[in-house]
Amino acid sequence: MKTKATTRDNTRTKAGSCRGVWVFADHRNYFQDRVTLQILAKGRDLARDLETEVGVVVLGYGVSEFVMEYVAHGADIVYLIEDQRLAKYNVDIYTTVVCQLVERYRPEILLVGATDFGREFAPRVAKRLTTGLSADCVALEIDPVEKILLQTSPSFEGSVLATIVNSTARPQMATVRPGTFKERKHDHHRKARLIKPQIDLVGGTSRMEVLKVRKQPHRGVDLREAPIVICGGRGMGGKKGFGVLDRLGKLLGAEVGATRPPVSEGWAESDRLIGQTGRAIRPRLLITCGTSGAVQYTTGIQNSEYIIAINKDPDAPIFQSADFGAVGDAHQVLHHLIMRLEKETHG
Ligand SMILES: Cc1cc2nc3c(=O)[nH]c(=O)nc-3n(C[C@H](O)[C@H](O)[C@H](O)COP(=O)(O)OP(=O)(O)OC[C@H]3O[C@@H](n4cnc5c(N)ncnc54)[C@H](O)[C@@H]3O)c2cc1C
Repeated sequence: MKTKATTRDNTRTKAGSCRGVWVFADHRNYFQDRVTLQILAKGRDLARDLETEVGVVVLGYGVSEFVMEYVAHGADIVYLIEDQRLAKYNVDIYTTVVCQLVERYRPEILLVGATDFGREFAPRVAKRLTTGLSADCVALEIDPVEKILLQTSPSFEGSVLATIVNSTARPQMATVRPGTFKERKHDHHRKARLIKPQIDLVGGTSRMEVLKVRKQPHRGVDLREAPIVICGGRGMGGKKGFGVLDRLGKLLGAEVGATRPPVSEGWAESDRLIGQTGRAIRPRLLITCGTSGAVQYTTGIQNSEYIIAINKDPDAPIFQSADFGAVGDAHQVLHHLIMRLEKETHG
């Protein structure tokens, strides 16, 4: 069940003079982590509703190759600071630099990906600028009357989806869950203004030193990118049940995901978890088997194009999220489906 809660933040008033929607660029693993591009796409919708522009803040060293990418994906203005001292993502220095930029250019909205870095960095920026921050947002809209940002995020351990507004302090800040929004098509005809601000990096001293950066090895296809996903819940009954999902996955070219109970039981790996604390997916087709439809799970599947649910309980809430439903034992339904597909594949 979705419940709306609205909170109002009454910190510093400086709303009137602020313009623009800003996106902080997290380009550390550009080709795999698409969250900056996804937020840029959403930023364009917000900027359209506010009749303003989308700016992207790019910090780093040797990062000009990303600038054109961000423009092609929706940025109207690029704020670029290239300096060797920004080569490694250092939360202290990055916070100082972004705060200086915000105070100089006064954006109305600042969006950050809820990556491991973004979760560390955004609260520091918000605290230093005395503004509010909504964490892990799964929806962002502009209020058509008040023209303020409606920031929806799971709250109270995920039992409600709260819509939070920051009516006075600026910028309105939110972190956004990777996979929540869809990136725009690459448009190499787009043009943007490039601004290279002079910023005091000497003031940006850090209590920490980043010694080494190692990329995590990429395991299989990321669920967030998969066009077809089959998700198993507790109703699959065990590892054997997940074996059936793998078999179907191979026939359909699909990735297999899981709700929390199978991950806790060790039937599926933790990187397969879908939902509020796992991946937010947006496949063309999701087949969800033996899942009840808890809000912490449905938060992560709400952007799927088509959902087929299989559950033996006709009253299971998952059917409210589904386009098509099959009431029955998942093992039996999947068995028939696999037999049919194997017959079609192998004749
Ligand atoms: C802070 C917090 C964060 C959370 N984050 C997540 C998260 O990211 N992802 C997540 O998934 N959960 C998360 N949870 C847990 C969530 O609340 C649910 O407990 C969980 O999603 C339930 O998983 P399930 O649907 O597989 O299991 P259940 O709720 O136990 O549902 C099993 C379903 O299977 C059906 N079933 C049983 N046997 C069969 C069969 N043979 N054939 C067909 N159907 C059958 C049953 O009718 C039932 O509807 C979180 C909880 C909290 C408190």
